[in-house]
Amino acid sequence: MFIVFIVVDFLRKYWFFGKCKGFGKIKIVPIFVPAFAKIVKWYNSGFVNRNSGFDSRSWLNQTAGGSKGPRLQPGVSKVLRLFFTKAQQILPAPLSPRITQYKIRAELDPASKTVKGEIVLDWRNPSRDTVKDLQFHLYLNAFKNARSTFRAQGRAASADQGDFGYVDIDEIRTSRGEDLTGRLKFIQPDENPAPEKLTLPEEKPLAPDIYGKDQTVVSVPLTTAVLPDSSIRVKIRFTSKLPKLSSRTGYNQDYFFVAQWFPKLGVYEPAGMRYAQKGGWNTHQFHPNSEFYANHSLYQVDITLPEEYVVGSGGKLMKKEVADGKQTLSFRAENIVDFAWTASKAYKVVEDQWKQVNIKLLIQPEHYYQAERHIRAAKYALEYLAAHVGPYPWNHLTIVDPPTYGQGAGGMEYTTMITAGTFYLLPAQIRMAEMVTIHEFGHAYFMGIPPAAILSVW
Ligand SMILES: [Zn+2]
Repeated sequence: MFIVFIVVDFLRKYWFFGKCKGFGKIKIVPIFVPAFAKIVKWYNSGFVNRNSGFDSRSWLNQTAGGSKGPRLQPGVSKVLRLFFTKAQQILPAPLSPRITQYKIRAELDPASKTVKGEIVLDWRNPSRDTVKDLQFHLYLNAFKNARSTFRAQGRAASADQGDFGYVDIDEIRTSRGEDLTGRLKFIQPDENPAPEKLTLPEEKPLAPDIYGKDQTVVSVPLTTAVLPDSSIRVKIRFTSKLPKLSSRTGYNQDYFFVAQWFPKLGVYEPAGMRYAQKGGWNTHQFHPNSEFYANHSLYQVDITLPEEYVVGSGGKLMKKEVADGKQTLSFRAENIVDFAWTASKAYKVVEDQWKQVNIKLLIQPEHYYQAERHIRAAKYALEYLAAHVGPYPWNHLTIVDPPTYGQGAGGMEYTTMITAGTFYLLPAQIRMAEMVTIHEFGHAYFMGIPPAAILSVW
């Protein structure tokens, strides 16, 4: 925008306005600077939150709470929209500060059980520190070999060859094209200085002979540090080999539940946040009993796979294109902590609506007659929590019913997607189907809702 004013001033001095009598005497820049400052204020306070571009840098300035700036006339906002494409497309305003946004393009090859993808990742340094590296979780490496913390602490996966899973960063570059791939370094944050302190009571302590072997966290030292309140964009190419379904991610036959599947940035905690006495990355190896910690992020994910698969995700389906037997589905999710997806040829889809929330149930054909039970349970959970805690802020929720041979994916939550659990011929009086749906929705709700969304209600 500022460039526009500089150009206008340039024209005034040297060409157009110079030719108009009187105009040359008017100082245009001093007039425009306050106007520009006002626009920046609107921009920061939320006006452009609803109208600015995914790729523009505007999200950097977005804060929780939405618009506090003056409302613009629709005509004016239409004109401004010509300058800014949309950042908020689903929610009216961001629910938390925008620290990370992921733009992912991924393709599933069902034969090799592999997902290849590209990520454009933006990260804003939320601290007063100069940050010299980025740290990513590579969760699928928990299934890579017996030396991972996950396996060594007792969560066994089948020993069959072909059951392994991993995620490789094939390439990572800054937006300026600098290749950082050679700098990647696996780190084991929980082994230094006292691994036993980070071992939960149910977990086996890590044996010293496997120290240094876990590959579920990687550090990328940067050539140019990220200054306070500034941002960095990196482009990542990755390959994920999905493990045989266990511990809630992977494949079985041609059923896919794709979770913890891409290099996911850790959380940089500024001094004073939670337990952080000084600023630093809060990353941990993948332990058998740990959960996943991430920033609320913007996700735009394009998934390509053969067209006969039915796909569901934690995002809202924005677009679908089919060509040469393949489909590309564009999902988008705002302010969620994790993005997972699933694909199966067998799913039947049931859609319903509760207030603003579009509920999409992906159910096995043999459980189809129980669809109503899941939907009613989800609506009950939405209603109950909205009445007693605060409204569910998203307008989409996906419920996934895995097949019997995919039960490894059952009973889990990913903010806007939950996995249910039921059995064929489950009697109506045994409320297991309802219980799992409500239970997982409860996890998703309490784990996923940004504090600002709840606090604004209270
Ligand atoms: Zn639970």
